[in-house]
Amino acid sequence: MKTLSILGSTGSIGTQTLDVVREHPAMFNIVALAANTNDNKLEEQINEFHPELAVLYDEASAKRLAARYHGKTKIMCGHDGLIAAATIDAADTVVTSLMGFVGLAPTLAALDAKKNIALANKETLVVAGEIVMRKAKENHVSILPVDSEHCAIFQCLQGEKREWVEHLILTASGGPFRGKKTDELKNVSIKDCLNHPTWSMGKKITVDSATLVNKGLEVIEAHFLYDMPYEKIKVVVHPQSIVHSMIQFYDGAVMAQLGVPDMRLPIQYALTYPERMPSSFDRVDFYTLGSMTFEKPDTETFRGLKIAYDAAKAGGTMPCVMNGANEAAVGAFLDGKIGFLDIYEIIERALDARENKLNPTFETLVEEDKWARGYVHEILRMK
Ligand code: MG
Repeated sequence: MKTLSILGSTGSIGTQTLDVVREHPAMFNIVALAANTNDNKLEEQINEFHPELAVLYDEASAKRLAARYHGKTKIMCGHDGLIAAATIDAADTVVTSLMGFVGLAPTLAALDAKKNIALANKETLVVAGEIVMRKAKENHVSILPVDSEHCAIFQCLQGEKREWVEHLILTASGGPFRGKKTDELKNVSIKDCLNHPTWSMGKKITVDSATLVNKGLEVIEAHFLYDMPYEKIKVVVHPQSIVHSMIQFYDGAVMAQLGVPDMRLPIQYALTYPERMPSSFDRVDFYTLGSMTFEKPDTETFRGLKIAYDAAKAGGTMPCVMNGANEAAVGAFLDGKIGFLDIYEIIERALDARENKLNPTFETLVEEDKWARGYVHEILRMK
């Protein structure tokens, strides 16, 4: 039996993780659940899974829940609550599916507490990849990727040697605006942007998917997870989202992992590894699938991928600044304050305005993230 703490339990990955747990009730025990503000959903989860600890990051939401809940589960709030859920003695694995930079500190705390990590919070590796991977090594714990692309690569690497890899090939759906040009993107609505053709995900990642920033974040994630230079990481657009990623080996052979676009598959693999378990989820039907297509990403129109590669190659604090600016810009877009294309402009302006600092500490990263968000809010005030 595995004992799990789920950070971000009411979000898209969190609820799908609980679906996986429902498939295999004898295999998992939930010992902690943490969410941001959704007290109603968290309460339902508490009543179903009876964790030792439940956390709402938002204090007002936690107070609401504590006022009406009288069961055995301990209720906590805020940063301390997240850290308590990340380090709880009873958990052997922490599923990190919090959204954004806020996931970094609990992930580092979980690593220090020698927890294995099922990583769904890619921002953690983008911002602090070196620190995170070093801590995992020092504490002899594993970081198992939940992201579908990285899970695919992880599966293709089983039994292979890293030095045989010529290229990691990450697939991208291309998002809802694939094929459009800059002119056509000026006035796209939030609703259009959230209408992803193949994946059902949270709002922030769906916008990131439309800008291709998400794929850029995933390139950085792959770089750290698989210790692979950026020159060896390629991206190919594959609109059907059946091939989840590929490895090209140095003999020319390509290994791909396929499956329906359903996040419960990579979540289950991360949680049951090194075993495979049966599942009732959908299967690929090759008789009705028809064709699978592949194309080069249009990085002139969708600058997010290039911005991320450039920030990644610069290293230091640039990925952190990019990530902070992106989170703030996507938030502003979802609030209806800026247009879709403004997201690129804002990230680029933040990166131009800030000097890079190499080998950052955690404290420096916190400062840089704060600076980036502040800078974006400054830009928004001037608009
Ligand atoms: Mg992904």
